[in-house]
Amino acid sequence: MSFTGKSVAVGAAATLTISTFMENSVLAQTSQHAFSPPAKVPQGSDDPIVLEAWKSDVDQKSGPTPTPLSPDRRIGYAVVGLGHLSLEEILPALSACKKSKLAALVSGSPEKLKKVADQYGIKPESCYSYATYDQLKNNKEVDVIYIVLPNSLHKEYVIRGAKIGKHVLCEKPMAVSSAECEQMIAACSRANVKLMIAYRIQYQPHNRKLREMVKNRIFGAPKLIESSNSQSSANPAHWRHKLAFAGGGALPDIGLYCLNTNRFILGEEPVEVFAYQYSTPGNPLFTEVEEMMSWQMRFPSGVIANCSTNYNVHESRHYRVLCEKGWLNIDKAYAYKGQKLTTARADGMMEKQEDIGLAEKDQFAAEMDHFSDCIIHDKIPFTPGEEGLQDHLLMEAIYRSAKEGKPVKITQKLSKPIHGPEPIAD
Ligand code: NDP
Repeated sequence: MSFTGKSVAVGAAATLTISTFMENSVLAQTSQHAFSPPAKVPQGSDDPIVLEAWKSDVDQKSGPTPTPLSPDRRIGYAVVGLGHLSLEEILPALSACKKSKLAALVSGSPEKLKKVADQYGIKPESCYSYATYDQLKNNKEVDVIYIVLPNSLHKEYVIRGAKIGKHVLCEKPMAVSSAECEQMIAACSRANVKLMIAYRIQYQPHNRKLREMVKNRIFGAPKLIESSNSQSSANPAHWRHKLAFAGGGALPDIGLYCLNTNRFILGEEPVEVFAYQYSTPGNPLFTEVEEMMSWQMRFPSGVIANCSTNYNVHESRHYRVLCEKGWLNIDKAYAYKGQKLTTARADGMMEKQEDIGLAEKDQFAAEMDHFSDCIIHDKIPFTPGEEGLQDHLLMEAIYRSAKEGKPVKITQKLSKPIHGPEPIAD
């Protein structure tokens, strides 16, 4: 192919004369037609580059552009326990983080450890077993230990992590009892390390947006919340069905999301609970832990939250906040992705329903980057250990109510405020 002595129109402003294909290639390298449109490039690492705008207000805005820290400035995470959550969500999410990076792995399975280390580029000297866990102390690339073990092991590994001077991110439920939570908080406080509980929903955009709308009384005061988080289970040998490992059944595993998210949305603490518990007789899944818990929580403002959780039904994860003049609903509210926020209100003879479309963000990445931000800027995490302790106190009251068949008043008061500063929106 050749071009000979032709003039080619290039945009409205210029004309490019091309004589041969060879000359064209040389021209392309030195072309004056490749240039940078105006952009604001702030100095601060948290300030995004602002590119030249081209979309009209008719469409949803894009951006802001991400502000990732360079790899050498990111907070390094050691992920402990390479099970479903770590392999399927947390390790992939670390690749989407802006302030956090994977620095080490801990597993009881050498084969799995080697394979995962190869997949994510972790050197053999940054791979540990449960026996060599305490040697993480000497790994300068590890700032945070992320505990993703069965619930009954959280306490031991959080306390050992604090003793070797590392900050700790711990999966929910925080432990298997409020007494364990208190020991974990005390150990982290003594060691002067930060402790955060991994309540990912509190960092998820749709849930945060709904909370903001409730706080701003878009539809007047909230009156009732209906929330349910349920799924099905099939393996009675799994630790989730052993009381000593799990600390309970559907309630601490998935019902906890209803409990914690309702507190998060309302910004107040329940004063009374009333619960009903059930397990199908003879089902081997539920010889040690409950299949179903249904409970009510009464808040000081008068709001009642009706909550339910079940380990023996098709997956369903949603809630609806009923307010004086409208309702707000999230389908797939507690899922890893796919949240759908809908609102409804009366407008004359019509009911208007609206879908609030928000960009999906990896909630695990948002949660880890929040913790990293707290470490970089020395802040209390938004969901510290006290947040996990409060949920355990409430779950203990829920079990007591179900056992006694009557409402239980919440008498324990936390000595410290539960939340740290709000996560930075990006
Ligand atoms: P898995 O059973 O899939 O994985 C747990 C891992 O822990 C195992 O693979 C194993 O890792 C390690 N382990 C160490 N000792 C034991 C033991 N005695 N029995 C079983 N496993 C052991 O659990 P999940 O990943 O689903 O859950 C882990 C934690 O994360 C739990 O606390 C759970 O509540 C929480 N979670 C949170 C979710 C969220 O959305 N935030 C969702 C799902 C779970 P290895 O083989 O590498 O040693």
